Amino acid sequence: MPDLFTFFYGASLLLQILAAVVALDLYVHSSQYRWGWLLLALGLVALTFRRALMLWTLDGHQSVTGVEALIFFMIASAHFLGIVLIRNVVISLELANRELKRISQTDSLTGAFSRAETFNRARLEISRSQRHHVPLSFVIVDIDHFKRVNDDYGHDVGDLVLQGLVKTCQVQLRKIDTLGRVGGEEFMLVLPETDEDQAHEVCDRLRTAIESKEFFLPSDEMIHITISLGIATYHPQQVRVDDESALVHVLCQHADAAMYQAKKAGRNQVAIWH
Ligand code: GH3
Ligand code: MG
Ligand code: MG
Repeated sequence: MPDLFTFFYGASLLLQILAAVVALDLYVHSSQYRWGWLLLALGLVALTFRRALMLWTLDGHQSVTGVEALIFFMIASAHFLGIVLIRNVVISLELANRELKRISQTDSLTGAFSRAETFNRARLEISRSQRHHVPLSFVIVDIDHFKRVNDDYGHDVGDLVLQGLVKTCQVQLRKIDTLGRVGGEEFMLVLPETDEDQAHEVCDRLRTAIESKEFFLPSDEMIHITISLGIATYHPQQVRVDDESALVHVLCQHADAAMYQAKKAGRNQVAIWH
Protein backbone atom coordinates (compact mmCIF):
# COMPACT_ATOMS: atom_id res chain seq x y z
CA MET A 1 0.00 0.00 0.00
CA PRO A 2 2.19 2.77 -1.36
CA ASP A 3 0.05 5.74 -0.21
CA LEU A 4 0.03 4.76 3.44
CA PHE A 5 3.72 3.89 3.20
CA THR A 6 4.60 7.27 1.66
CA PHE A 7 2.56 9.17 4.22
CA PHE A 8 3.98 7.44 7.31
CA TYR A 9 7.50 7.40 6.04
CA GLY A 10 7.47 11.06 5.00
CA ALA A 11 5.81 12.16 8.27
CA SER A 12 8.30 10.09 10.27
CA LEU A 13 11.29 11.68 8.54
CA LEU A 14 9.83 15.13 9.18
CA LEU A 15 9.17 14.39 12.89
CA GLN A 16 12.68 12.98 13.27
CA ILE A 17 14.19 16.12 11.72
CA LEU A 18 12.05 18.34 13.99
CA ALA A 19 13.23 16.36 17.03
CA ALA A 20 16.84 16.97 15.94
CA VAL A 21 16.10 20.72 15.53
CA VAL A 22 14.68 20.89 19.09
CA ALA A 23 17.81 19.11 20.42
CA LEU A 24 19.99 21.62 18.52
CA ASP A 25 17.95 24.48 19.99
CA LEU A 26 18.67 23.07 23.46
CA TYR A 27 22.38 22.92 22.58
CA VAL A 28 22.39 26.57 21.45
CA HIS A 29 20.28 28.06 24.26
CA SER A 30 20.85 25.86 27.27
CA SER A 31 23.49 26.77 29.85
CA GLN A 32 23.88 23.21 31.17
CA TYR A 33 24.56 19.77 29.68
CA ARG A 34 25.20 21.39 26.29
CA TRP A 35 27.36 18.57 24.92
CA GLY A 36 24.62 16.09 25.84
CA TRP A 37 22.09 18.02 23.76
CA LEU A 38 24.52 18.22 20.84
CA LEU A 39 25.14 14.45 20.95
CA LEU A 40 21.39 13.86 21.07
CA ALA A 41 20.87 16.14 18.04
CA LEU A 42 23.65 14.37 16.11
CA GLY A 43 22.17 10.96 16.97
CA LEU A 44 18.74 12.06 15.75
CA VAL A 45 20.20 13.50 12.54
CA ALA A 46 22.11 10.23 11.94
CA LEU A 47 18.93 8.20 12.49
CA THR A 48 17.02 10.39 10.02
CA PHE A 49 19.84 10.04 7.52
CA ARG A 50 19.83 6.26 7.83
CA ARG A 51 16.06 6.09 7.33
CA ALA A 52 16.24 8.41 4.32
CA LEU A 53 19.10 6.38 2.81
CA MET A 54 17.08 3.18 3.22
CA LEU A 55 14.42 4.74 1.03
CA TRP A 56 16.82 5.32 -1.86
CA THR A 57 19.25 2.42 -1.63
CA LEU A 58 17.06 -0.52 -0.64
CA ASP A 59 14.58 -0.13 -3.47
CA GLY A 60 12.25 1.36 -0.83
CA HIS A 61 8.75 0.33 -1.80
CA GLN A 62 9.49 -3.36 -1.85
CA SER A 63 11.92 -3.63 1.06
CA VAL A 64 10.22 -1.28 3.61
CA THR A 65 6.70 -2.46 4.34
CA GLY A 66 3.77 -0.37 5.50
CA VAL A 67 4.04 -1.98 8.96
CA GLU A 68 7.68 -0.98 9.25
CA ALA A 69 6.77 2.55 8.16
CA LEU A 70 4.07 2.63 10.85
CA ILE A 71 6.55 1.50 13.49
CA PHE A 72 9.03 4.15 12.32
CA PHE A 73 6.25 6.72 12.58
CA MET A 74 5.62 5.68 16.20
CA ILE A 75 9.35 5.84 17.03
CA ALA A 76 9.75 9.28 15.40
CA SER A 77 6.60 10.58 17.19
CA ALA A 78 7.96 9.36 20.54
CA HIS A 79 11.33 11.03 19.81
CA PHE A 80 9.66 14.30 18.87
CA LEU A 81 7.17 14.44 21.77
CA GLY A 82 9.83 13.25 24.24
CA ILE A 83 12.33 15.93 23.29
CA VAL A 84 9.69 18.69 23.27
CA LEU A 85 8.72 17.68 26.83
CA ILE A 86 12.41 17.56 27.88
CA ARG A 87 12.91 21.02 26.37
CA ASN A 88 9.96 22.39 28.40
CA VAL A 89 11.35 20.87 31.59
CA VAL A 90 14.84 22.25 30.90
CA ILE A 91 13.50 25.75 30.18
CA SER A 92 11.36 25.86 33.34
CA LEU A 93 14.26 24.52 35.46
CA GLU A 94 16.64 27.12 34.05
CA LEU A 95 14.13 29.92 34.70
CA ALA A 96 13.58 28.64 38.26
CA ASN A 97 17.36 28.43 38.82
CA ARG A 98 17.84 31.96 37.55
CA GLU A 99 15.10 33.22 39.88
CA LEU A 100 16.56 31.33 42.85
CA LYS A 101 19.99 32.80 42.12
CA ARG A 102 18.51 36.30 41.91
CA ILE A 103 16.64 35.81 45.19
CA SER A 104 19.74 34.50 46.98
CA GLN A 105 21.83 37.42 45.69
CA THR A 106 19.35 40.19 46.51
CA ASP A 107 17.99 41.66 49.72
CA SER A 108 14.23 41.38 49.26
CA LEU A 109 13.35 44.61 51.11
CA THR A 110 15.78 47.06 49.53
CA GLY A 111 17.05 45.46 46.30
CA ALA A 112 20.66 45.84 47.49
CA PHE A 113 22.88 42.74 47.32
CA SER A 114 22.34 40.16 50.05
CA ARG A 115 24.91 39.71 52.80
CA ALA A 116 26.17 36.42 51.29
CA GLU A 117 26.53 37.89 47.79
CA THR A 118 28.25 41.02 49.15
CA PHE A 119 30.88 38.86 50.87
CA ASN A 120 31.27 36.71 47.71
CA ARG A 121 31.94 39.83 45.69
CA ALA A 122 34.27 41.19 48.35
CA ARG A 123 36.39 37.99 48.14
CA LEU A 124 36.49 38.16 44.34
CA GLU A 125 37.53 41.83 44.47
CA ILE A 126 40.38 40.98 46.87
CA SER A 127 41.73 38.50 44.29
CA ARG A 128 41.29 41.01 41.48
CA SER A 129 43.00 43.72 43.50
CA GLN A 130 46.00 41.40 44.10
CA ARG A 131 46.17 40.39 40.41
CA HIS A 132 46.04 43.95 39.09
CA HIS A 133 47.90 45.65 41.99
CA VAL A 134 45.13 48.18 42.57
CA PRO A 135 43.71 49.37 45.92
CA LEU A 136 40.28 48.26 47.12
CA SER A 137 38.10 50.05 49.67
CA PHE A 138 35.47 48.65 51.99
CA VAL A 139 32.91 50.94 53.61
CA ILE A 140 30.43 50.23 56.41
CA VAL A 141 27.38 52.53 56.34
CA ASP A 142 25.05 52.80 59.33
CA ILE A 143 21.93 54.94 59.65
CA ASP A 144 22.07 57.39 62.56
CA HIS A 145 19.43 57.02 65.27
CA PHE A 146 17.39 54.73 63.07
CA LYS A 147 15.61 53.31 66.08
CA ARG A 148 13.98 56.72 66.54
CA VAL A 149 12.53 56.56 63.01
CA ASN A 150 10.90 53.23 63.86
CA ASP A 151 9.78 54.42 67.29
CA ASP A 152 8.34 57.73 66.04
CA TYR A 153 6.80 56.67 62.72
CA GLY A 154 6.52 52.89 62.79
CA HIS A 155 8.38 49.96 61.25
CA ASP A 156 6.77 50.42 57.81
CA VAL A 157 8.19 53.93 57.55
CA GLY A 158 11.55 52.52 58.68
CA ASP A 159 11.33 50.06 55.78
CA LEU A 160 10.53 52.88 53.32
CA VAL A 161 13.56 54.80 54.57
CA LEU A 162 15.80 51.75 54.03
CA GLN A 163 14.49 51.42 50.46
CA GLY A 164 14.94 55.14 49.75
CA LEU A 165 18.49 55.07 51.12
CA VAL A 166 19.48 52.20 48.82
CA LYS A 167 17.98 53.90 45.75
CA THR A 168 19.76 57.17 46.56
CA CYS A 169 23.11 55.42 47.05
CA GLN A 170 22.77 53.23 43.95
CA VAL A 171 22.52 56.23 41.60
CA GLN A 172 25.72 57.68 43.09
CA LEU A 173 27.79 54.52 42.59
CA ARG A 174 29.56 52.96 39.58
CA LYS A 175 28.42 49.70 37.98
CA ILE A 176 31.49 47.90 39.37
CA ASP A 177 30.75 48.97 42.98
CA THR A 178 28.83 46.66 45.30
CA LEU A 179 26.21 47.92 47.72
CA GLY A 180 25.00 45.18 50.06
CA ARG A 181 22.75 45.05 53.10
CA VAL A 182 24.80 43.27 55.75
CA GLY A 183 22.59 43.95 58.79
CA GLY A 184 19.26 45.55 59.74
CA GLU A 185 20.20 49.16 58.94
CA GLU A 186 23.82 48.46 58.11
CA PHE A 187 25.21 48.41 54.59
CA MET A 188 28.56 47.58 53.08
CA LEU A 189 30.20 49.05 50.00
CA VAL A 190 32.96 47.34 48.05
CA LEU A 191 34.72 49.92 45.88
CA PRO A 192 37.25 48.42 43.43
CA GLU A 193 40.26 50.46 42.27
CA THR A 194 39.60 53.01 45.00
CA ASP A 195 42.11 54.31 47.57
CA GLU A 196 41.35 56.07 50.88
CA ASP A 197 41.03 59.56 49.40
CA GLN A 198 38.79 58.44 46.54
CA ALA A 199 36.67 56.38 48.95
CA HIS A 200 36.36 59.42 51.20
CA GLU A 201 35.10 61.45 48.24
CA VAL A 202 32.51 58.79 47.37
CA CYS A 203 31.40 58.50 51.01
CA ASP A 204 31.05 62.23 51.40
CA ARG A 205 28.94 62.34 48.24
CA LEU A 206 26.68 59.63 49.67
CA ARG A 207 26.55 61.31 53.06
CA THR A 208 25.43 64.66 51.61
CA ALA A 209 22.98 62.99 49.20
CA ILE A 210 21.29 61.20 52.11
CA GLU A 211 21.44 64.23 54.39
CA SER A 212 19.64 66.37 51.82
CA LYS A 213 17.16 63.72 50.69
CA GLU A 214 13.55 64.35 51.64
CA PHE A 215 11.86 61.11 52.68
CA PHE A 216 8.14 61.53 52.13
CA LEU A 217 5.90 59.41 54.35
CA PRO A 218 2.47 58.04 53.37
CA SER A 219 1.01 60.66 55.74
CA ASP A 220 2.63 63.37 53.53
CA GLU A 221 5.02 64.23 56.37
CA MET A 222 8.65 64.61 55.35
CA ILE A 223 11.69 63.45 57.34
CA HIS A 224 15.45 63.60 56.98
CA ILE A 225 18.03 61.05 58.09
CA THR A 226 21.81 60.96 58.24
CA ILE A 227 24.38 58.19 57.94
CA SER A 228 27.82 57.46 59.41
CA LEU A 229 30.44 55.79 57.25
CA GLY A 230 33.73 54.01 58.00
CA ILE A 231 36.39 53.23 55.38
CA ALA A 232 39.09 50.54 55.33
CA THR A 233 41.37 50.32 52.29
CA TYR A 234 43.41 47.35 51.12
CA HIS A 235 46.73 47.96 49.31
CA PRO A 236 47.89 44.66 47.77
CA GLN A 237 51.51 45.82 47.50
CA GLN A 238 51.65 46.20 51.30
CA VAL A 239 50.04 42.89 52.32
CA ARG A 240 49.51 39.80 50.17
CA VAL A 241 47.24 37.04 51.44
CA ASP A 242 46.03 33.63 50.29
CA ASP A 243 42.97 33.58 52.52
CA GLU A 244 40.58 36.12 50.98
CA SER A 245 37.81 35.33 53.50
CA ALA A 246 40.05 36.17 56.46
CA LEU A 247 41.11 39.43 54.84
CA VAL A 248 37.50 40.40 54.08
CA HIS A 249 36.71 39.73 57.74
CA VAL A 250 39.59 41.95 58.93
CA LEU A 251 38.74 44.76 56.50
CA CYS A 252 35.10 44.68 57.63
CA GLN A 253 36.20 44.92 61.26
CA HIS A 254 38.40 47.90 60.41
CA ALA A 255 35.64 49.64 58.41
CA ASP A 256 33.23 48.95 61.27
CA ALA A 257 35.68 50.42 63.80
CA ALA A 258 36.04 53.52 61.60
CA MET A 259 32.25 53.79 61.37
CA TYR A 260 32.05 53.78 65.19
CA GLN A 261 34.67 56.56 65.26
CA ALA A 262 32.37 58.55 62.95
CA LYS A 263 29.47 57.90 65.36
CA LYS A 264 31.58 59.01 68.32
CA ALA A 265 32.68 62.13 66.48
CA GLY A 266 29.03 63.22 66.33
CA ARG A 267 27.45 61.09 63.51
CA ASN A 268 26.74 62.22 59.92
CA GLN A 269 30.48 61.85 59.28
CA VAL A 270 33.02 59.80 57.33
CA ALA A 271 36.04 58.24 59.08
CA ILE A 272 39.00 56.32 57.69
CA TRP A 273 40.61 53.41 59.57
CA HIS A 274 44.37 53.91 60.02
P1 GH3 B 1 23.02 54.68 65.96
O1 GH3 B 1 23.05 56.06 65.46
O2 GH3 B 1 23.92 54.49 67.14
O3 GH3 B 1 23.32 53.68 64.89
O4 GH3 B 1 21.56 54.42 66.48
P2 GH3 B 1 20.49 53.44 65.89
O5 GH3 B 1 19.18 53.77 66.55
O6 GH3 B 1 20.49 53.48 64.41
O7 GH3 B 1 21.08 52.05 66.30
P3 GH3 B 1 20.45 50.74 66.83
O8 GH3 B 1 21.39 49.66 66.43
O9 GH3 B 1 20.14 50.87 68.27
O10 GH3 B 1 19.09 50.57 66.02
C1 GH3 B 1 18.98 49.95 64.83
C2 GH3 B 1 17.52 49.80 64.56
O11 GH3 B 1 17.31 49.31 63.23
C3 GH3 B 1 16.85 48.84 65.49
C4 GH3 B 1 15.93 48.02 64.59
O12 GH3 B 1 14.62 48.08 65.03
C5 GH3 B 1 16.04 48.70 63.26
N1 GH3 B 1 15.95 47.78 62.15
C6 GH3 B 1 16.75 46.75 61.86
N2 GH3 B 1 16.32 46.11 60.75
C7 GH3 B 1 15.21 46.75 60.33
C8 GH3 B 1 14.30 46.58 59.24
O13 GH3 B 1 14.43 45.68 58.41
N3 GH3 B 1 13.26 47.44 59.12
C9 GH3 B 1 13.09 48.45 60.02
N4 GH3 B 1 12.06 49.26 59.86
N5 GH3 B 1 13.91 48.64 61.06
C10 GH3 B 1 14.96 47.81 61.22
MG1 MG C 1 22.22 52.92 63.34
MG1 MG D 1 23.52 49.49 63.40
